[in-house]
Amino acid sequence: MLYKRSSELFVEANKVIPGGVNSPVRAFKGVGGTPIFVKEAKGAYLYDEDGNRLIDYINSWGPMILGHAYEPVVNAVIEKAKKGTSFGMPTELETQIAQLAVSMVPNIDKIRFVNSGTEACMSAIRLARGYTKRDKIIKFSGCYHGHSDSFLIAAGSGLSTFGVPNSPGVTEGTAKDTLLASYNDIENVKALFEANKNEIAAIIIEPVAGNMGCIPPAKGFLEALRSVCSENGALLIFDEVMTGFRLAKGGAQELYGIQADIVCFGKVIGGGLPVGAFAAREEIMNHLAPLGPVYQAGTLSGNPLAMAAGFEMLKSLNSDSTIFSRLEEKTAYLEKGIRKVLTEANVVFTINRVGSMISVHFDANPVYDFATAKNGDNESFKKFFHGLLKRGVYIAPSAYETWFITDALTYEDLDFTINAIAETAKEL
Ligand code: PLP
Repeated sequence: MLYKRSSELFVEANKVIPGGVNSPVRAFKGVGGTPIFVKEAKGAYLYDEDGNRLIDYINSWGPMILGHAYEPVVNAVIEKAKKGTSFGMPTELETQIAQLAVSMVPNIDKIRFVNSGTEACMSAIRLARGYTKRDKIIKFSGCYHGHSDSFLIAAGSGLSTFGVPNSPGVTEGTAKDTLLASYNDIENVKALFEANKNEIAAIIIEPVAGNMGCIPPAKGFLEALRSVCSENGALLIFDEVMTGFRLAKGGAQELYGIQADIVCFGKVIGGGLPVGAFAAREEIMNHLAPLGPVYQAGTLSGNPLAMAAGFEMLKSLNSDSTIFSRLEEKTAYLEKGIRKVLTEANVVFTINRVGSMISVHFDANPVYDFATAKNGDNESFKKFFHGLLKRGVYIAPSAYETWFITDALTYEDLDFTINAIAETAKEL
């Protein structure tokens, strides 16, 4: 495969865009080499600027669950665009997508649309703080909730100490209100509540983590978080930016039968356009402006093109009674194939999977939190990534990401991928 034009475009991009990209992971820093510049995409395939075809396992980091350039979404956007692209006034469409989302997801009465997953999580935290009149939040190491200041926090030195900024520009004042816990470690969470009595507004968690590879919640962990929150007057926030409308119609809440207090969405809910949302029961959502005192706003929030895309996407998912089982079956088939060929090649690995989220870790031990995710052999991952890339398979350019399976993938595509993995395994 040739990447000549991508390389040239990257040089040009670097002159006017920091690092040549508008979001850091796209720069291939984790795996080396030149980022691929995409020209177009259709179904399960990306077509790059050098004319290469790649089977896509990132799918815009989640949104393209029904494949690229999915026709109902594309057509809806085209038709909407002809009638004006933004008004800053209410439209009927916003109510229609809100009604549909509320009907699909358990335990929510009202939903507010924003422009990204970051905004959704940031706003959810503000709402939780405003509702509980408390300042501190608990987040889990390795979970990603967007790039808002409160979330760019590393663990401090001990349980009673506060988090510390892990990016310059995040103030210590902000960091002190974010407490870090280990994923799947309920005792850790209980100790934080003990040490910060009546001060914790909320726990925010990816109910299935997807930003340290795919990490499922241990049996009983989400239930225990639910209890701890209820006992301590704190809210449980599920960041379902990845899992929402992917693991089930009603996301992880439905899959695990747990009711969160606030749920955040992004990715699939926008059908590939910039959309995020957060939702909760009425008594919580009514604290938001203009009904309540917690301020939150957006010039382009509820944008007609974005709402048209999201509405078509949700309608498609809602009306397809086998979509989530189909996605699960395809991903389970892929998992089985990968296990077989990596085992045959004597590669040391662990595979984690929930529904259509899956990740391969180059470590023999179970991967259940950020510390164990970091044990993976990154050199093997780099070879794995580039071996697949040169064979026409595109996975995330980082060992800490889940793969997102799309329904556009055929079983031939999956077999092609498993073969590519078998060949790549010989080079590891
Ligand atoms: N929450 C989770 C779980 C995510 O995976 C992401 C992004 O990957 C975000 C929040 C932030 O969303 P966005 O990139 O749309 O701001």
